[in-house]
Amino acid sequence: MPEVESLARFLTTKCVGHAIARVDLAAFSALKTYDPPLSALGGLEIESITRRGKFLDLSAGGLHLVFHLARAGWLRWRESIPDTPTRPGKGPLALRVRLDDSSGFDLTEAGTQRKLAVYVVTDPEQIPHVATLGPDPLTPEFDRDLLAALLRNAGRSQLKGVLKDQRTIAGIGNAYSDEILHRAKLSPFKPSNGLTDVELTTLFEAIKNELSDAILRAEGLAAADLKGEKKSGLRVHGRKGEQCDVCGDTIAEVSFADSALQYCPTCQTGGKLLADRRLSRLLK
Ligand SMILES: [Zn+2]
Repeated sequence: MPEVESLARFLTTKCVGHAIARVDLAAFSALKTYDPPLSALGGLEIESITRRGKFLDLSAGGLHLVFHLARAGWLRWRESIPDTPTRPGKGPLALRVRLDDSSGFDLTEAGTQRKLAVYVVTDPEQIPHVATLGPDPLTPEFDRDLLAALLRNAGRSQLKGVLKDQRTIAGIGNAYSDEILHRAKLSPFKPSNGLTDVELTTLFEAIKNELSDAILRAEGLAAADLKGEKKSGLRVHGRKGEQCDVCGDTIAEVSFADSALQYCPTCQTGGKLLADRRLSRLLK
């Protein structure tokens, strides 16, 4: 989410006040709505670009172009963007937005999974995944008491899953939930309602600090540089087998069917290795 926040700020400086010249869809599966059509955005002046959880909301003339980049999606800003129609179905291009000064951006998605999603709506709340978003941890309303209530409601569900559940807290994904738990020195499998007062405070501060630090690191970077910045700023996520830079232990991993989490045993689980469920199932 810090990258999405940075993208929103970057796009605000580039787009607000400009009119949309044309929008071309290259990956038909990306567009999740059909009324109003994409072409209705043509000629409308962009008023704002805001983040809602991990969604970006571009508001123009009473319409909203909302998109979710998903894991393999990205936004590529271009000072000069072709005015020719896009050719559907080829390459990573999903959507192209051209502005009145011929700048614009491409939404692209790497790989074969098609998860990038684009919506055109009159109200973002019409999108179910937006309407059900939990509170945003970067807002002032997100305080320690609110976090305590959210965790109490989550019962014995494991912290890792609760932190990245968009309906509980909006905007924290797989990478930053690993980072937050490492910073707070908490096990990803700890039951949400089992935190002491001190642990709750530590977790609250870790959420706020991890996200705001990542946004600070990304400040002023162009869209093209944000992904590299994200990787270099992560201390445990995606770093299985590397040394923890806090304690020197080897970073461990638990893998699931379609994702994995990384953690430091010494910092987070009292030195214990967490059971890798997929592996132990295979060994039975
Ligand atoms: Zn460590």
